[in-house]
Amino acid sequence: MQSVCILGSTGSIGESTLDVIAQHPDVFSVYALSAHSRIQKLAAQAARHGARVVIVPDAASARQFAEVWGGGPGAMPEIRVGAQALADTAADAGVTTVMAAIVGAAGLPSAMAAARAGKRVLLANKEALVAAGNLFMQAVRDNHAELLPIDSEHNAIFQCLPHGDRAAAPTQPARGVRRLLLTASGGPFRTTPIEQLALVTPEQACAHPNWSMGRKISVDSATMLNKGLEVIEAHWLFAMPADRIEVLIHPQSVVHSLVEYEDGSVLAQLGQPDMRTPIAYGLGFPDRINSGVGLLDLAAAGRLDFEAPDMGRFPCLHLSFGALRAGQGACITLNAANEVAVARFLDGRIAFNAIPATIEACLNALSAEHACLPASLEDILALDQEARIKAEAFCRQFAA
Ligand code: NAD
Ligand code: MG
Repeated sequence: MQSVCILGSTGSIGESTLDVIAQHPDVFSVYALSAHSRIQKLAAQAARHGARVVIVPDAASARQFAEVWGGGPGAMPEIRVGAQALADTAADAGVTTVMAAIVGAAGLPSAMAAARAGKRVLLANKEALVAAGNLFMQAVRDNHAELLPIDSEHNAIFQCLPHGDRAAAPTQPARGVRRLLLTASGGPFRTTPIEQLALVTPEQACAHPNWSMGRKISVDSATMLNKGLEVIEAHWLFAMPADRIEVLIHPQSVVHSLVEYEDGSVLAQLGQPDMRTPIAYGLGFPDRINSGVGLLDLAAAGRLDFEAPDMGRFPCLHLSFGALRAGQGACITLNAANEVAVARFLDGRIAFNAIPATIEACLNALSAEHACLPASLEDILALDQEARIKAEAFCRQFAA
């Protein structure tokens, strides 16, 4: 029996995780759920899945949770409060498995706590690896945690790698592997005339053609910064150098990624664009369990298309490769600047094409010494904060 803690349960990944878990009550129980907002939804989830603990951001949301629960069914879960409670619960002795599904670098300390406590970590929160790849992978190794990538591309690559001790953290590329090929849909603006990109709205940017996701990652998919973050994520997860990671546009999102071997073989994982498949893979590993996802009908799909990405259309991709080559400080800055710029775009304060401009300005403002920093979690969080302040200033400039 796995006892699961879902960090970010009210989000898109959190909900899909609960959906898979509910299909296997004999194998999984829900220990803890967390939310940063939408407390009513959290209470409904906790009641339905019998959570023993909930984590909320502050005292006001704790009161709201208790009020909403009222005379709800069964005993009220224990309410824990604040960011430290997220990390403490991820490391709780009652937990075997942690789904890290908070969005953004805010999810880093709790994901790290899960790795340090040697849990089975289902990692959806890619920003944690982008900001702290080295430290996070070292924590997985040192504490014999089991790391299962949930991001669909990385889950696909994981499935296509040679068998063996795959749920550990490698220190060199798997034997016989030449390159990793990450597929990308190209998002909603793959064919929009480039001069119109300055005018696109948050609603258009969030209307992803294939995937239903949270708003931040939807915008990241539209700029393709998401794929840039995924290149960095792949670098850390699979110990793969930047020049052996390739991005391939594949508008149908059926081939989730590929592994190219020395002998010319290319292995791919295919499936419907539904995150319940990688989630079920991570939960069930090494077994295969039902995810609730329907069968892939290739005859109905008819054709699968591939093309090289246009770096002029998607400058964020180029910036991400640059950050990966520059060092971890640059990756922290890339991610933090993007989080700020995306929030300002969603607020309607900056234009879509000011997102790459903000990231580039922040990277340019980074000293060479800082670009290849960091050592501790504290250093990482400090540089993240510094980059956010700079990014806010650039956004104000671009809004003017
Ligand atoms: P979402 O916005 O739908 O949900 C985010 C969750 O995190 C919510 O439960 C929210 O309450 C919580 N949260 C937000 N800010 C927080 C904070 N400061 N502190 C604590 N909790 C906070 O996001 P999502 O689409 O589910 O994505 C979650 C993560 O998974 C992201 O890192 C994303 O890149 C990754 N991911 C998502 C998908 C997808 O299909 N949605 C696919 C691959 C990877
Ligand atoms: Mg992905």
